[in-house]
Amino acid sequence: MSCDTDILIVGGGLNGPALALALADTGFDVIVIDAQPPGARGEEGFDGRAYALTLASQRLLTAIGVWDSVKDHAQPLSEVRVSDGKPGTGAGPFVVEFERGGIDEGPAGYILEDRFLSRALTDAIKAHPKVTLIGGETVVAQAVGPADVTISLASGRELSGRMVVGCDGRRSGTAARAGIRRTGHDYGQSGLVCALEHEKPHGGIAHQLFLPPGPLAILPLPGDMCSIVWTETTAEAARVHALDDAAYMEHLRPRFGDFLGEIKLAGKRFTYPLNLTLAEAYVSDRLALVGDAAHGVHPIAGQGLNAGLKDVGALAEVLTLARRRGEDFGRIDVLERYQRWRRFDVATMVAATETANTVFSNDNPLVRVGRGVGLGVINALPGLKRFLMREAAGLTGDLPRLMQGRQI
Ligand SMILES: Cc1cc2nc3c(=O)[nH]c(=O)nc-3n(C[C@H](O)[C@H](O)[C@H](O)COP(=O)(O)OP(=O)(O)OC[C@H]3O[C@@H](n4cnc5c(N)ncnc54)[C@H](O)[C@@H]3O)c2cc1C
Repeated sequence: MSCDTDILIVGGGLNGPALALALADTGFDVIVIDAQPPGARGEEGFDGRAYALTLASQRLLTAIGVWDSVKDHAQPLSEVRVSDGKPGTGAGPFVVEFERGGIDEGPAGYILEDRFLSRALTDAIKAHPKVTLIGGETVVAQAVGPADVTISLASGRELSGRMVVGCDGRRSGTAARAGIRRTGHDYGQSGLVCALEHEKPHGGIAHQLFLPPGPLAILPLPGDMCSIVWTETTAEAARVHALDDAAYMEHLRPRFGDFLGEIKLAGKRFTYPLNLTLAEAYVSDRLALVGDAAHGVHPIAGQGLNAGLKDVGALAEVLTLARRRGEDFGRIDVLERYQRWRRFDVATMVAATETANTVFSNDNPLVRVGRGVGLGVINALPGLKRFLMREAAGLTGDLPRLMQGRQI
């Protein structure tokens, strides 16, 4: 039976277009459908989202031909400093410094704003001869047959493919329509996000400062600018968000400290509720989930998008190799290879993130001493630090070829 395309991708955020490019480069025909008109995301400028991309993710973006168009907007990370602190007293005595020399391959990562990445990905899929982008259309139904999948759009249009991939974010309709349940919980925390201008150069150093209500991440952007993700309890975040800009900055300054000199708000402020949402399965017949549709995590470790791009590399590799072997790539036994590859890795990341958030969002004096000693020990043991640095660069575990700098 003939289909409109090989693979239907629901969701043109970040992981959807990245997957489309990876698959199209190995010969698949792909249709990407997104509810928003093409290019709408990022049109209004900085929306508070900036990603700490690992070296592995940067390699994948290079392999799919997107890195060259964003690299001038990306800030290489020279160092990551993790410290324990109390509001008003600055960083505590135990600091872990992951410096440039920690790994041999170059910077462990880059900070890149969402607006540049989403625009580059959209432009790349629009230009690729094997990808069709349908923007401003919502997928409302899907029907799985023995050899194909048909999806229905709100406009009444129908499209068929050999399989469908849900890249439709944390509230994935693709997963829900397939009967895939989700687990997770609300952290009772929200992330206050904004960009800041500062007086002194940041030197490419990112900071993760652990304060009792939750972490404050300071991510360097090109120039004398940074983006912050400031975690507070939901009630306190709502209260702080409602303050005017001057009062907001007064609240932030003692938490931020004065190591970058005077700080000034640059643009709008945002608040995002933080929750964990995990799909109980990543695949079913002729269907796979990728990115936040499979696993929406806490931003504490900056791993949300990196984990999604690892899904992209793994699924593109599994489908391409299956097709080269003459297999029906949409069959559940093929898709289960992808699920086996990714589920354990994601479970490990979620466990580490949950532990970090519990241990560090806590002002119990004993817990404070324990974590201070832990940070001190990491700093004193170069072997352990080197492992953690490689982990932070995304270079450990079973890496997809696109993340090793190879083609599939
Ligand atoms: C507001 C916000 C702030 C964030 N900040 C950070 C951060 O600072 N650091 C970090 O690492 N991560 C952050 N994240 C997480 C990070 O953005 C995600 O991990 C990443 O965007 C996931 O990409 P995705 O492509 O899987 O999903 P998304 O980016 O959520 O894209 C999903 C896409 O699916 C489309 N869609 C949904 N349903 C349908 C449908 N029925 N039909 C058609 N299209 C549909 C949507 O229009 C959307 O474009 C943030 C997320 C959000 C939402």
